[in-house]
Amino acid sequence: MKHCTTALTIEDHFCPDCGDNIENLVTIKSVIALHPDMIDDLKVHCPDATIYTGWVEKTHHYKRRYKSRGSHSETLYYSYWFLTLNNENGEQKTISISSEDSSLDRVAKDDIITILMPTNYSANHPLADKDDAKTVTHNELAPVVVFHRDSGQESIREPGYRVDGFSKANIFFNAFIFCCIVGFAGLYFEVYPFKLGALLTVIVTIIIGSIWSSHRTKVFEAETARLAEIKKTTKRILGVSIDDMGYEQRARKAKKDDVFCPHCDALNDSQHRYCSSCGALQANDMVDELVSAASVTSNGQDMTHSLTEAGSRSIEPVPSSRRITRQEKILQTCHPFIMSNESDYIHKHVLVSNFPAQLAVTLDL
Ligand SMILES: [Zn+2]
Ligand SMILES: [Zn+2]
Repeated sequence: MKHCTTALTIEDHFCPDCGDNIENLVTIKSVIALHPDMIDDLKVHCPDATIYTGWVEKTHHYKRRYKSRGSHSETLYYSYWFLTLNNENGEQKTISISSEDSSLDRVAKDDIITILMPTNYSANHPLADKDDAKTVTHNELAPVVVFHRDSGQESIREPGYRVDGFSKANIFFNAFIFCCIVGFAGLYFEVYPFKLGALLTVIVTIIIGSIWSSHRTKVFEAETARLAEIKKTTKRILGVSIDDMGYEQRARKAKKDDVFCPHCDALNDSQHRYCSSCGALQANDMVDELVSAASVTSNGQDMTHSLTEAGSRSIEPVPSSRRITRQEKILQTCHPFIMSNESDYIHKHVLVSNFPAQLAVTLDL
């Protein structure tokens, strides 16, 4: 969002170009703030579903170890990121995400991420390096992650919600085997004659097979519907860009020559005319320029926005002391703690003659 030419950030209360008060302040809106109904349909299938959008503050790469069973046992290693996230409400979150996907090789500080948790989800394999336990303080793993990048959105989904198919024929076959074992046991103990036993085996096979099959079908349908809803919600999140949420306006990129406003001590871009925090004009040469422009305007008909501004606002020149940069401010603040001392002494040698020298000691930050 712009007022004149400079893109505004959430920290700006005044336009850096014309000094106007910004009436509609720039705000950040997370995915759920933009679309409050984003996970409503998912909650029908997953009542405890949550969604979180924020930026990466810290990253830690680590591995978990998995040892397969059997005679050909082998040890496998899976890579993860342990991320510390924060958002516009100051709600910090720590969570692991898989880094096995090649698109997640490059997770960096300030990346904007949305985490979708349809249910609680954990990585259960042990840490490959025990020292990682100092940083990886819990096993919570993000099952669905969407990256909002300048180039667009991309997502990964853990395989935990995958739906396994099943065969009704297999269910009835297994039920038949189970009933045969019970049926033969009844025959062995002569509980019933063979024909009756065979009939009962068939009837019970049909009953057990039907109940088992019905239960499995319900589970399959519920899991399929849940996965479909997770995919649908993920697709909707993938449609939300950094621009939509305003995260790219979180802060102006720091520059080496940024300067402090003499009125309110806010840090501004050295090229900005007005302090974006208090609206004060930033340099005396700018004041002269605007005042002369205003006098020209008052005699003419060509009224531009900035000249009108210069003519109508009472322009207060900043104090004569020039604005200082970030580096100068650090030196100014640290000056009392910087010590320098010089003293003369005689540098003595065994084989050659002594000569006078000066010892300079400087304690710098
Ligand atoms: Zn403006
Ligand atoms: Zn200011």
